[in-house]
Amino acid sequence: MRSHSSRKSIVVLALVLFVCAAITPAALSAAANADALAGSSPSNILLAAAGYGLVVLVLVVAIMTIRRETRRSRELTDALQEHKDLIQIFTDGVENSAVFMLDPGGRVRNWNPGAERLHGYKARDIIGKPYAFLYPKDDIQTEKAETGIKMAGAEGRHESVGWLLRKNGSTFHARSIIRSLKGPQGDHRGYSVVTRDMTDMKQAEELLKKLSLSVEQSADLVLITDRNGKVEYVNKAVEDVTGYTRQDFMSRGMELLQSEHHSPKAYREMWNTVLSGFSFQAELTIKKKGGEQVILDEIVTPITDARGEVTHALFTASDVTPFKIMKEKLLYLTSYDELTGLPNRSLFAERMNRDRTRASKGNGTMAILAMDIDRFKYINEIYGIEAGNKVLKQVAESLSVSVSKSDTVCRLGSDEFGIILHDIQKPSDIILFVKMIMKNVPQIIMSGGEEISVTMAVGISMYPDDGKDAHTLMKNADIALSKAKGLGRNNYQFYTQDMNVGVTELVFMERRLVDALKNKEYTLTYQPYCYLSSGRVAGTEALLKWKNEEFGLVSPVKFIPMLEETGMIIDVGKWVLRTACEQIRLWDSSKYSLPMSVNLSGSQFRHEFLAEMVETTIKEFGIDPRSLTLEITESIFMKDQEFAIRVLKRLKSIGVSIAIDDFGTGYSSLSYLKKFPVDFVKIDQSFVKDVATDPDATSLVTAIINMAHSLNLKTIAEGVETEDQWKILRLLKCDMAQGYYFSPALPPQDVEKFLHE
Ligand code: C2E
Ligand code: MG
Ligand code: MG
Repeated sequence: MRSHSSRKSIVVLALVLFVCAAITPAALSAAANADALAGSSPSNILLAAAGYGLVVLVLVVAIMTIRRETRRSRELTDALQEHKDLIQIFTDGVENSAVFMLDPGGRVRNWNPGAERLHGYKARDIIGKPYAFLYPKDDIQTEKAETGIKMAGAEGRHESVGWLLRKNGSTFHARSIIRSLKGPQGDHRGYSVVTRDMTDMKQAEELLKKLSLSVEQSADLVLITDRNGKVEYVNKAVEDVTGYTRQDFMSRGMELLQSEHHSPKAYREMWNTVLSGFSFQAELTIKKKGGEQVILDEIVTPITDARGEVTHALFTASDVTPFKIMKEKLLYLTSYDELTGLPNRSLFAERMNRDRTRASKGNGTMAILAMDIDRFKYINEIYGIEAGNKVLKQVAESLSVSVSKSDTVCRLGSDEFGIILHDIQKPSDIILFVKMIMKNVPQIIMSGGEEISVTMAVGISMYPDDGKDAHTLMKNADIALSKAKGLGRNNYQFYTQDMNVGVTELVFMERRLVDALKNKEYTLTYQPYCYLSSGRVAGTEALLKWKNEEFGLVSPVKFIPMLEETGMIIDVGKWVLRTACEQIRLWDSSKYSLPMSVNLSGSQFRHEFLAEMVETTIKEFGIDPRSLTLEITESIFMKDQEFAIRVLKRLKSIGVSIAIDDFGTGYSSLSYLKKFPVDFVKIDQSFVKDVATDPDATSLVTAIINMAHSLNLKTIAEGVETEDQWKILRLLKCDMAQGYYFSPALPPQDVEKFLHE
């Protein structure tokens, strides 16, 4: 505007000057010509000269003015262009910004490339459109654009943040500043709009928010300090795990995380590592506010500025206390038995290997004892796991106090214990020790008022004669143990070479048993028992024998458990009952009519068709049910007493008699006898064995006999081998006796001979 008016004034001035310059000489020359005709005078010449001079002056002035004005005009134009260029550079250069103007009516007046980029409109598409054109539908309804313009008009400037529209219909987050534009006279000339795309910023902001939330809510502990150790930030996990608040950390700093577990030197070293620009990982034990210990797996990382200077330290840590406890527990479990606290089999083997060196150097040798609680399975079954555990703990305790400090006691498995004995001079030392521990093992343990007598079997192997490594020594002690177990309760055995044969024998034996019934390898022998008062035969007990080509005559103690385990006992048991009933009929039909006892195993007793089987067999052979007695060990019906009572009643209803076999072997409480409908009590041979020599055994046998009699039960003493036993049992009013003293088990024809004698 300004340059336009000055150009105009220059043109006008130039015209004036030219008119002057043209008119003045003409007028002067006209005057001079008129004067010359009339006669020239000097004044006229002077006048003419002055006229020319004036014209020249005017011309000079005019030229100078024109030149000055032209220069000024050029300068102005240049400045204006520069200004324009600057604006262009600015508007073009702002990548993420739209810069444009609105006319006073709020319509788009111009449009920069940034605007084009942001909104997607070309200038020709948008110029002349209302500002609201750039707002999403919702904002159009609320007249957001118009309001913004109005407010800018009223206040000179209006800033807003929100969503704006692109040509393709998508929206973007932007900050817009609208300024009201005024002319020099304060006239309203429209608005400038600068819009900045905030998408990146918003994303960055959201990312930052997310990051800080993640850090804050992280299960890991996060703590930031400056390079002097002043705590600047702790997340919630730090508060939760340590029990200290953010304020505690801010005021007391890192000392809160220090404990006597690590030396001040260690802390200093860690800190120096970080300050040197290195990160490190460490396991730190700290103390919670309440004093409780926490183990942290910590990584400390230096944070550096642009110049690489360490400005802060970032501590990230996780609470590994539960894992540590678990790990220690696992370690314990892999080496120790949880129930008894004794070393387990693997630690036992380790100790054995370790102690070999000592044994080799020392003057004595080393013995390995493998021990097993007799009939532990039954203790568990009858009295329950808790009682079983109590027995295990007491046995563990008694073994532990029986050994010296340098020896090792361990629990090898369920009811198996092991001992490493050192400095053995001669085998008799071990025998003394074994006898001592057998005596120390609590004979009676009270468990819920019940009495449990505990005995153990012991197998012994010697280093280096029976093995040079832990595995062999253990294996051979185990072999000796199974041999000891086979000999009955409270036995021990030293390992011998031939035992190995015995073990593999068991495996083959089991295979042979499968065909034993089919191959008719079983026979029944009959052991007569008699009245103690008269010496008359009172009956016989049918005892199963297995005769195999390979193994010869095998004891039921060996093969009955195998039959039980494999389930073959059901068929074999049926065969036994049928054979026994057949024999009863045979003897009935001759002059040898005798009651007969048949043994039932646990699985037979629990078999659902037992009673039916007994009944149909009796009927099949047409025998008097009263001539048949079924022998059941006490442990079998102690397991589920209600069930046992039901079965026993059902059997009794058939008319057969019931005998409790091996009475007193462990779990008997005389009082329970009342509950069961039984007829005979067979006193176990282990009591009978000592009845004439051990006052304890005498009083126990007396108690059993008296109790049985008070319940109207007959007593049979098992395993009577000597006259003394016979006599004392008769004195104690035991009803009957069975044993080698009277007769061993015999084949039927021998029984007949025996009866005949
Ligand atoms: P049990 O029922 O207590 O049988 C008595 C065992 O003691 C028999 O051993 C017998 O030979 C033995 N014996 C008898 N008198 C004496 C003696 O004076 N001294 C010694 N030391 N022992 C004597 P056996 O025949 O080896 O039978 C062992 C066990 O096998 C039996 O003990 C019984 O529980 C079981 N058994 C035998 N036959 C059968 C059967 O047909 N079925 C079932 N389920 N088990 C059977
Ligand atoms: Mg028996
Ligand atoms: Mg018996």
